Amino acid sequence: MKKSRNTRQRAIILEILRQTRSHPSAELIYREARKALPNISLGTVYRNLGFLREQKMVKEIRANDDAGSRFEAAIPPHGHFHCGHCNAIHDIPLPDSFNDFGWERSEFVSSVSELELHVIGACAACAPSASAN
Ligand SMILES: [Zn+2]
Ligand SMILES: [Zn+2]
Repeated sequence: MKKSRNTRQRAIILEILRQTRSHPSAELIYREARKALPNISLGTVYRNLGFLREQKMVKEIRANDDAGSRFEAAIPPHGHFHCGHCNAIHDIPLPDSFNDFGWERSEFVSSVSELELHVIGACAACAPSASAN
C-alpha cells in the first residue's frame, strides 16, 4: 500500500514539473500537488523531489539568492539564466564548446562529472524597469 501511494505522489510531482518550464520551488510544487493530493505535506514533497533527483528524473537548480532550490524535470542539458530582479530562471542553450572545452587542463581539475552554466543578469521583462531605476 505504502509503495503505491509513493508511486502516485512521485508521478504527480513529476507531471507538475513536466508541464512547466518555470523551474518552480518546492513550495510551488507543493501548492500545485495539493490540488491532486490534499493531504500531502511539504516534507513529503521534498522527500519525493530528493528521490526523483537521485533517479536523475529531476534536476535541482540552486538559485542565485537565498530563496532556495528550484526544480525541473530532467531534459537535455542546457544552461540557466537567472534574473536578479524577478528571480525568474530561463533555459538557455549551452555554447558548443562547453562540454569539449577541456576543463581538465586546469591544474585544479582532475576529472569532471557534471557541468552547469549559470548566467545572471536582468531578463527581458525586467530590463526596462531595471534601467529606469
Ligand atoms: Zn526578471
Ligand atoms: Zn532548465
